[in-house]
Amino acid sequence: MKRVIAIDGPAGSGKSTIARMIAERLGFDYLDTGAYYRAVGLKLRDAGFDGDALDEDISRVLESTVVDFDRSNKRFYLDGRDVTDAIRTKDAGRYSSIFSKKKSVRDFLLLIQRRFADNADLVAEGRDMGTVVFPNAWKKIFLTADVYCRASRRYEQFKEMGSTVTEADALTDLVVRDKLDEERQLAPLKKASDAFLLDTSKLSVDDTVAAILRFIDYR
Ligand code: C5P
Repeated sequence: MKRVIAIDGPAGSGKSTIARMIAERLGFDYLDTGAYYRAVGLKLRDAGFDGDALDEDISRVLESTVVDFDRSNKRFYLDGRDVTDAIRTKDAGRYSSIFSKKKSVRDFLLLIQRRFADNADLVAEGRDMGTVVFPNAWKKIFLTADVYCRASRRYEQFKEMGSTVTEADALTDLVVRDKLDEERQLAPLKKASDAFLLDTSKLSVDDTVAAILRFIDYR
């Protein structure tokens, strides 16, 4: 396994933006694991499943499922269909959280995620990078931020996408997803004991990146 920088944290904590920038600065690959959970969420929703579905039924569908990221055009594909925009909707976020508690889903994505670190140094972001997927990561960071601050960031992202979601909707959505992610039995969202904790509520993106670069002491 190559060097992995594991970045975890709740929705809206700034993980994606920060992880992408750190990867760019260091010349590491970047892995957005939430995108994979979102794509699988869409697939299982469309297959007619809900949160009560059995793992064996889900596994049967996932056996023939292909989730792929094309680095050359930065697009996500689900069974060959471009889902780059579809996975960013509020609905995709909701279904990803509903199905991410399933063992069948987590097992399916675990191997896919680990493979990314086989041949390249990696910045991997998600909920369980430092605890489950890369417990021996080179560096671990846990980002957090006040829930209102995170909701306001999410709202701005939705607005940019042309979505009509209100700020109140964004807040409710975050609270529900935080609860699902923190309370699930398998790989719940939590800080690894050896992760560096950083609250980004009052930090600019550049300040956050600078703090992380100082922490990893990269030369
Ligand atoms: O990070 P993002 O909001 O795109 O993640 C979508 C959902 O996928 C999360 O709410 C969580 O339920 C799930 N997820 C996860 N483990 C990860 C990444 C995402 O359970 N490593």
